[in-house]
Amino acid sequence: MTDAAIVTGAASGIGRATVDLFRERYDLVAGIDVDDAIAEVAAEFDDVRGYVADVRDHERVHEIVDDVEADADVVAVVNNAAISRDVWIGDLGPDEWDEVLDVNLTGQYNLVHAAAPRMYERERGAVVNVSSGAGKQGSASGGVHYSASKAGVFGLTKGLAKQLAPHVRVNCVVPGLMDTPLTTDSGLWTDAGIREFTEELPLARLGEPGEAAALIDFLCSTRASYMTGAVVDVDGGAGLV
Ligand code: NAD
Repeated sequence: MTDAAIVTGAASGIGRATVDLFRERYDLVAGIDVDDAIAEVAAEFDDVRGYVADVRDHERVHEIVDDVEADADVVAVVNNAAISRDVWIGDLGPDEWDEVLDVNLTGQYNLVHAAAPRMYERERGAVVNVSSGAGKQGSASGGVHYSASKAGVFGLTKGLAKQLAPHVRVNCVVPGLMDTPLTTDSGLWTDAGIREFTEELPLARLGEPGEAAALIDFLCSTRASYMTGAVVDVDGGAGLV
């Protein structure tokens, strides 16, 4: 049997960079993204399969895991897809709240619900959930729903790490401000805002998507064999400011 990895939000930014690293480690990399661009990523490489899907769709996520498992054992799962919006609390209606929580937190539950029991049964595998500094400190750019969803990712990670031990390791990556479309094309940040923010950072620049992907890759690998339930920052020192 061949080994597979599944990455959500794989069409862009950190997810896309993770696909590039995972191609060296796994026989098959399955990328899930709501954006059609995931089909173009898959078309580029024989060992990448692209699924246009919304991580909020519980049944569809299960179908995708079944489809991958028909050809390979899923040994790595990366819950990376997320959205962020800047909404004042007084204007934050229940639909907007639900949408962000559903994508950023329930989406992660959907994928581990489908994939983790099989990994546990085989006694092999690793999960990485992507959170954000917003979950620790509140967001510099997004609404409280984004921060709340990202704080929820810490609880999901720690609960899963206990349940799935000792067979499946579950860790959390906490990016700082990264040079991805979520930062540069979302309207959440102005160029001046990014400059001001990064000037204060110990490492004084935006992070590259590959720098977060490198940590995800490490945590999924056997090099991280004694790590589970960990929350690891890749933030240029933002936590020190
Ligand atoms: P990005 O916007 O470049 O990529 C996110 C991808 O997720 C996109 O391709 C998007 O289409 C996909 N996506 C969104 N909703 C989806 C859904 N419902 N179903 C499936 N796919 C969906 O963003 P990024 O910066 O690469 O972010 C990756 C992760 O890193 C996210 O969890 C984000 O919260 C986290 N993060 C990013 C930053 C940053 O500064 N960029 C900071 C902290 C945390």
